Amino acid sequence: MTGRAVEPARDADAQPGADDTAEAVPDDTAEPVPDVAGRRSTWTDQHCHLDDGGAASAVAEAVAAGVTRLVDVGTDLDTSVAALARTRRLEGVWATAGIHPHEARRGVDGVEALLAEDGIVAVGECGLDYHYDHSPRGVQREVFATQIGWAHRHGLALVIHSRSAWEDTFAILDEAGPPERTVFHCFTGGADEARAALDRGAWLSFSGIVSFPAADDVRDAAALCPPERLLIETDSPYLAPVPYRGRRNRPAWVTAVGAAVARVRGVEPERIAELTTSNALAVYRLDRRPAP
Ligand SMILES: [Zn+2]
Repeated sequence: MTGRAVEPARDADAQPGADDTAEAVPDDTAEPVPDVAGRRSTWTDQHCHLDDGGAASAVAEAVAAGVTRLVDVGTDLDTSVAALARTRRLEGVWATAGIHPHEARRGVDGVEALLAEDGIVAVGECGLDYHYDHSPRGVQREVFATQIGWAHRHGLALVIHSRSAWEDTFAILDEAGPPERTVFHCFTGGADEARAALDRGAWLSFSGIVSFPAADDVRDAAALCPPERLLIETDSPYLAPVPYRGRRNRPAWVTAVGAAVARVRGVEPERIAELTTSNALAVYRLDRRPAP
């Protein structure tokens, strides 16, 4: 999404640990240097937002860094249609279709029809964002519940965005019944929220926030997550991980997110690459549709 709903700065500013702005911001005109951690491994960025202008080069750069599978996430009708179109021209890219809570006030028209399309692997991102309240909360709840219903009806994974809204997120999920494959994307909770999500059979996906100095609670969650429930993502272009903070994020840097998770869990980055790729394959059934 090119900034209508969530601009990078705004999103990053309010995330845990984002107040810690003491690090120097590297020169964004320099050549990108993908993190070398686990470079021989195969990584998956299971949540990013590509844009038509930079998608091909972002994917090529990712592949060079060992990131060979990407899930390109829709946030409204237009971005979902665009993400689906990209799956048809970019190898190793799959898409989701859904309505972000920021966009909930604009309604759900047209999105469900995309779910039957080859290349769509999940409903979302959807959920609740009571931090920004860009849509009225009642509308957010309704549109979230509708999309949980879609995940059930179409047998798709569900990608949840939950921000300052844990209680209602779990209540709505419980009422509709959590889909068999449910992902809490960009997990920003601590140990308690992690357990509550895991109790509902969900996967936890960690973003660059796990590398932010002030995000100890998120690291607690990353430490306790069972290996078979662990995912990683960039959420690019938002939330660049250390050491790239302040820059426009890119799928190649999921390797840096993975390295941070590896440090938290006391394992090698290669192990995180292996684990999170195999989990992403299972959650989104990526191997059911060979890349074009
Ligand atoms: Zn996202």
